[in-house]
Amino acid sequence: MTTTAVVWLRRDLRVHDHPALHAAIAAADAVIPVFVIDEPLLAGRWPSPNRVWFMLQSVASLSQELADRGAPLRVLRGRPAQVLPEFARHAGAGDVFVTRDASPYGRRRDRAVAERLAASGIGFHARTGLYVHEPDALANAEGRPFGVYGAFRRAWDAAPRRAVLPAPDRIPGVPGAGDAVPDLARPTADPSRIPTPGEAAARERLAAWLDPGPGGRAPVDVYADVRDRLDLDATSRLSQDLRWGLLSPLEVVERALGPGDGRRVFVAEVAWREFYAHVLWHHPGVLDAPYLARFAALETRDAPDDLRAWAEGRTGYPVVDAAMRQLRAEGYMPNRARMITASFLAKHLLLHRRLGEAEFMRHLVDGDVASNDGGWQWTASTGTDPQPYFRVFNPVLQGRRFDPEGRYVRRWVPELGRVPDSHVHDPWTLDAAAQAAAGCRIGVDYPAPIVDHAEARGRALAAYGSARGAGVGAPDEGAG
Ligand SMILES: Cc1cc2nc3c(=O)[nH]c(=O)nc-3n(C[C@H](O)[C@H](O)[C@H](O)COP(=O)(O)OP(=O)(O)OC[C@H]3O[C@@H](n4cnc5c(N)ncnc54)[C@H](O)[C@@H]3O)c2cc1C
Repeated sequence: MTTTAVVWLRRDLRVHDHPALHAAIAAADAVIPVFVIDEPLLAGRWPSPNRVWFMLQSVASLSQELADRGAPLRVLRGRPAQVLPEFARHAGAGDVFVTRDASPYGRRRDRAVAERLAASGIGFHARTGLYVHEPDALANAEGRPFGVYGAFRRAWDAAPRRAVLPAPDRIPGVPGAGDAVPDLARPTADPSRIPTPGEAAARERLAAWLDPGPGGRAPVDVYADVRDRLDLDATSRLSQDLRWGLLSPLEVVERALGPGDGRRVFVAEVAWREFYAHVLWHHPGVLDAPYLARFAALETRDAPDDLRAWAEGRTGYPVVDAAMRQLRAEGYMPNRARMITASFLAKHLLLHRRLGEAEFMRHLVDGDVASNDGGWQWTASTGTDPQPYFRVFNPVLQGRRFDPEGRYVRRWVPELGRVPDSHVHDPWTLDAAAQAAAGCRIGVDYPAPIVDHAEARGRALAAYGSARGAGVGAPDEGAG
């Protein structure tokens, strides 16, 4: 009798280094790849047309790869706990294989699906693939989760890694056509500014990032020196590929490892992604409450106009505005810009970080609950191993340091096009004649700062200080 296995694809939209796909091929005579359009999830807590668009375009590209290898993709719609077991039963499948998910929603969903499948005598098998080391695989000497990145990183480095798997040449499918992938979302960002969806494009990005050119160096080799520079576009731009599993993080790390600081620091960043997945796995409550309980008492402001000015890039601080406008236009922002804008919302504006997290999740093509919440809580000083609460980034100094000639801010804030380099990060300090000469009259062509840095910093220190029951007066680390 022919045995059939279903491979249910989710955020592992690739054929290279795919343990669940390999396991299904080994376990059954016929393999049916399935993607479920999880309608409740698409409209859930963090809806984002940019992500849905990128995901479905990537599914369409995967569908072609699978069909070429002999196993057309089936596309279902609805609640996975309902439609997936129903499909598996009708297909006569004995087993369902998945790549193990780590988000609180993913874990709940998979438990529900596994139970329904078990009731029909169908096995549910989860394999690794979203992380180099699974979020629950590492523990400290007492067997407890890590709360500090440095210690996590040492364990992460030391743990043995499995071998990277090749893409299968053939997948034994079942006869019949696959399903078309519906086109359900128009991105709010400009699609020509979003990296091309699909595994093939992601693999080209990876090669361009890691493979040495004629000079013997690859972009990754200078990463350590330039990754924070906003004007240079000097990071990998692989985050959406890791988010959607177009690339296997294990393959990325194995190919990146090598001599030099650039490669070392790049791998360390991939490990940050795994640290935040580890934190979320062990503390799913962080999505609703701060990791550091003492900051639950932090009194934030209710200021919808300030929130709107921040989200729309109208705060009057060029580096903040440039970054927020980039987020809307590209569904992306470099890490340094995420830290500056998150700090501005959480500290300068003293708004609840959750409002900022939601705005990021609305736009980010790489939006990932673990990394996003981890990054926000780090910046807002409420998370694991965060920056100290008294560290309030000074947006002018951050701009000068990481965009020294103002090229990044001029790219996104054309109002500043003719403002001299010396004032491009604080145009309000130009006198009226110089503002007029530069075509950037503050309050007319470009907004005045919505808060004064020193006052806002004082307000944040007071609020954080009283929430943690400590005094203020800590050193200013404004230069970041
Ligand atoms: C407030 C805030 C929110 C963030 N939200 C997200 C998010 O929703 N999704 C997301 O993937 N990253 C998030 N990050 C992390 C980081 O900003 C992005 O991963 C990075 O900017 C993506 O660009 P890149 O691929 O060129 O990164 P690179 O600098 O080339 O880094 C390589 C890879 O390492 C991982 N990585 C790098 N830095 C971090 C980090 N600090 N935390 C976790 N992973 C990291 C990413 O997968 C990235 O693709 C956030 C950071 C902050 C401060």
